[in-house]
Amino acid sequence: MTKIDLLVFGPHPDDIEIGFGGSVALHAARGFRVGLCDLTRGELGSNGTVEERLTEAEAARAVLGADWRVNLEWPDGGLYETPEHVSDVVRLVRAAQPRVVAIPHWNDRHPDHRAASDTLSRAVFKAGLRRFEPVTPSFKPQRVCYYFINDEAPVSFGLDVSEVYDKKRQALACHATQFAPSGADTVQTRLTGSTFRQLIESRDARLGAMTGVAYAEGVVVREPMLFTDLFGHGHRGNTEDTLGSEAERGEAR
Ligand SMILES: [Zn+2]
Repeated sequence: MTKIDLLVFGPHPDDIEIGFGGSVALHAARGFRVGLCDLTRGELGSNGTVEERLTEAEAARAVLGADWRVNLEWPDGGLYETPEHVSDVVRLVRAAQPRVVAIPHWNDRHPDHRAASDTLSRAVFKAGLRRFEPVTPSFKPQRVCYYFINDEAPVSFGLDVSEVYDKKRQALACHATQFAPSGADTVQTRLTGSTFRQLIESRDARLGAMTGVAYAEGVVVREPMLFTDLFGHGHRGNTEDTLGSEAERGEAR
């Protein structure tokens, strides 16, 4: 488990790509170390075997340029807050020490995604409590971000993913069993129709248009963000200002 800058959680093996694939590729391309964590192997998905889905997820990781991808193997359909699940997340966050954690937004039609958002929010918080499971030292990420999978909500800000958007498309294409299944034992699902891709790309294109770029992925943060002026300089949301220099970050750890 190498230490990383950004840790992204996804409920099922394709959710990170759907909601945050561009942002993962963007940060990897800029030299940030990115780790991915899927909560389940997606065994309740209508198409594809667990083995196929894990292979597809690994291929997508390579396309996006993330450093590693792990799977917590929670039961698909059961992403509840249990002591075991909380411990899994706390151990991972404390080991990987991400400066920023990204988890699914709570507004989502899929009950697993809503449950994941809630469970992860609480578990990531507990990673920062020194008296919670003190066998490992506490670690508090500097920011928790929420990204969208199926639905959306007013964003705190957008990330310009225009330059890496083809990588998002390529990473999604790695999940062939979900988006383009073939063979006898397959069924049509919400994911297999062209409208699902349209949903994702139009959302990213709309936020892009609203912010003056081709494609942007939306991010929600619960804490207010601090700017140093009204002219786009010293944006306290960018890594240099908010997260400090290498030396400061070293001290923070
Ligand atoms: Zn999902």
